[in-house]
Amino acid sequence: MDHFQLKEGVVHAEDMPLSRIAEEVGTPVYIYSRATLERHARVFREGLCAAGKVHLAFAVKANPNLAVLRILANQGYGADVVSGGELERALAAGMKASDIVFSGVGKSRAELTLGLDKGIGQFNLESEEEGEMLAQIAADRGEAAPATLRVNPDVDAGTHAKISTGKAENKFGVAIDGAPDIYARLAKLDGLNLRGVAVHIGSQLQSLDPLERCYFRIGQLVTDLRKAGHAVTHVDLGGGLGVPYKPEENPPSPMDYGAMVARVTKEWGVTLMFEPGRVIAGNSGVMMTQVIRVKPGVHSDFVVVDAAMNDLMRPAIYDAWHHFEAVEPNGEKMTASIVGPICESSDIFAREREVDQVKTDDLGIFRTAGAYGATMANTYNSRPLVPEVLVDGDKYAVVAERIEPATIMAAEHVPDWLK
Ligand SMILES: *Cc1c(COP(=O)(O)O)cnc(C)c1O
Repeated sequence: MDHFQLKEGVVHAEDMPLSRIAEEVGTPVYIYSRATLERHARVFREGLCAAGKVHLAFAVKANPNLAVLRILANQGYGADVVSGGELERALAAGMKASDIVFSGVGKSRAELTLGLDKGIGQFNLESEEEGEMLAQIAADRGEAAPATLRVNPDVDAGTHAKISTGKAENKFGVAIDGAPDIYARLAKLDGLNLRGVAVHIGSQLQSLDPLERCYFRIGQLVTDLRKAGHAVTHVDLGGGLGVPYKPEENPPSPMDYGAMVARVTKEWGVTLMFEPGRVIAGNSGVMMTQVIRVKPGVHSDFVVVDAAMNDLMRPAIYDAWHHFEAVEPNGEKMTASIVGPICESSDIFAREREVDQVKTDDLGIFRTAGAYGATMANTYNSRPLVPEVLVDGDKYAVVAERIEPATIMAAEHVPDWLK
């Protein structure tokens, strides 16, 4: 359920007609709905009620906008961060340091130190080497860093290869077979308070089966670690729950997920941690674009829009599908490819698809763009960086400005010796 609905012939975000945002802010633009974000945050939490004591950390990389993070902080969410920059954002948005988990396969010495300086709640270690580095930095300061060891369970998440993270060939975590030995060596280090394990097998999962297989293996590992004399108090079960990009898709609900988690983890006796990203933010945002012109093609027409792959990269890099709709539909359909102005053949949002009929200057939206949308935007082809708007009932605010090419050029320098 989301709050982007057609009312009196115009798609609204909550009570705000999107045509008004186009007039006042311009296009392309991302639009988020506060009520939808809050609803998803609440539904996810309620789904996990059955699982006992839980800690929820929003995966910042899915949508790092400060206003979005503030909404989730107010919903009691912490943050799962994967860089020093995301760590600073989570704090700036009002998240408590103790509610921040630091994931990522390449945390640098500077980033580990930043995490300790800020007193974050947990480091999810992705290798023995990283654990040794963190232990040394912390021990030198007379501290013990709270940490878990991220395990790679070798489970096929059944999702797109580029967003799969839990197979043996993926770079994430340590192989589950070797985990007990690594855990034992890291647990001895003075600078670490190793308190459990973490796992995250991929994103946009369409079935609970791989997650259940993964969690079952993690349960066996927890038992083995305890037998070896380790105290295991925290298990981080990651994120990954999918969202419907197409009307006919029906990914598992947070309720079904919570029931599965409760069943599999019943005997664990730990604080469970979760890192949802897409399931919270995905349907909470759309990207609005304006049609520049319709160009006849050999197989079907091309609708050339003012948004491009730099604004929404998912179709180009993951073959992702975003549902397209006219903001003021006339009831007619057309078969067309929807493309951006960038000089790359991968700058295509929809291929010979039946869509709402549109013509020059009409507005359209790509749905389910609230996660991995604006956060991946760039300025390729010297295009502006796309702005973001947050709607709350009948008001809105620009929560990220459009950054014009002139601003970006101002940070570039031609050296004197070229003059
Ligand atoms: C990306 C990521 C997540 C969030 O994944 P979603 O599919 O958006 O829920 C959670 N944890 C880690 C470690 C990640 O890298």
